[in-house]
Amino acid sequence: MHHLPKLSYEYNALAPIIDETTMIIHHTKHHQTYVDKLNAAVTGTKYESRSVEDLLKNLWEVDENIRMAVRNHWWWHHNHTLFWQMIKPKWSELNWKVLEKINESFENFEAFKNQFTQAALNNFGSGWTRLVANSNQDVTIINTPNQDSPLTIWLKPILWIDLREHAYYLNYQNRRNEYLNNRRTIVNRDFVNELLGA
Ligand code: MN
Repeated sequence: MHHLPKLSYEYNALAPIIDETTMIIHHTKHHQTYVDKLNAAVTGTKYESRSVEDLLKNLWEVDENIRMAVRNHWWWHHNHTLFWQMIKPKWSELNWKVLEKINESFENFEAFKNQFTQAALNNFGSGWTRLVANSNQDVTIINTPNQDSPLTIWLKPILWIDLREHAYYLNYQNRRNEYLNNRRTIVNRDFVNELLGA
């Protein structure tokens, strides 16, 4: 059985950057729905006991008749499970190893920031903007539509942002840029470092 992951902070801890109502709906309604759908799809099948990460990397193994139906639920669940942990109410400047990688792969942090923001603004419709690493630990920015997962193309998650309107619309409506600027200050740098090292 897959479960809705517990958050390490309260629903109101990110306000006013992400408001309490948005957090409650996003976590207990949207995410829960896809955990339920995932369980409904895999319960009683040979995939029941396998981890989401394992199945995402080996999607071709999944029986064709359920592959398309369940992959979206896996993706949804995995995208959000990491997303919640990439956020932290307060961060410190210390010990950000990913920053070294960013400085190697982009001109400097400012250039990275601008490129990430531009990618997120240009991410048409619903999707995610992501900082990912390849097997050489080089980091790059990609946009993916809907719930597509970078794990299926063997790219390592580092930091990503949900651009579905349910993630920010109550607070920001059409002002995605403002959401991006504010969102930047609640990155869980310890977790992001952990992902890079994984
Ligand atoms: Mn979402």
